[in-house]
Amino acid sequence: MAMDKTLIDMPLADGEPPIDCRLCPRLAAFRDELRAEHPDWWNAPVPAFGDPAAWLGIVGLAPGKHGANRTGRPFTGDYAGDLLFATLDKMGLSRGQYDARIDDGLTLDGVIIINAVKCLPPQNKPTAAEINECRTFLSRQEAMLPRARIFIALGKIAHDSFVRHAGGRLAAYPFGHDRQHRLPDGRILIDSYHCSRYNTNTGRLTAAMFEAVFERALSLRDGLDATRETD
Ligand code: SF4
Repeated sequence: MAMDKTLIDMPLADGEPPIDCRLCPRLAAFRDELRAEHPDWWNAPVPAFGDPAAWLGIVGLAPGKHGANRTGRPFTGDYAGDLLFATLDKMGLSRGQYDARIDDGLTLDGVIIINAVKCLPPQNKPTAAEINECRTFLSRQEAMLPRARIFIALGKIAHDSFVRHAGGRLAAYPFGHDRQHRLPDGRILIDSYHCSRYNTNTGRLTAAMFEAVFERALSLRDGLDATRETD
């Protein structure tokens, strides 16, 4: 049975692409293929998830085949989500219990997740043209988040796309795990290795390393709040 797409909560609905967006022909064709194979999956651009009044934005890469592309919520249903949502819970940035389903009742507190590319790319590898195309929606949604002054980029593709969106030159903002950048528009970007199963299995990213990135964001937020109070 086809999934009822009206059931998905879209906190930044006005910035979302059309549910049948075909600006990237290769990705649209891949969705069509998977829809025929798995009619009960989401198989559409995956909308942002979280708090529209967020102070922290998380920029992911793209939906995973058995995660967001199946369930319709970023990072929901695959290993990357297990680590991300466990970390958000530990940091006090979510409410409810994550259970890998869109109807698990989980909500994010002060945080929103947006993917740099909203459709599933074959082999998790979007082309440069696809990343550029979907940046229109990333930019549109970032503009709808006036309170979000800190962003975490999960992986280099998300980092590069967000730097470009902010008008920065990539050479001036090299990606590095737990590296912090002040972007031309004044927002702060913190990089993290992507919380994929591959990165954790190979030891490139540990839970402690991932938590450190969020601890940095929380401490920056507290610093910004303190500055605002003394203005
Ligand atoms: S990746 Fe983005 S721009 Fe490309 S088809 Fe999907 S929603 Fe449209």
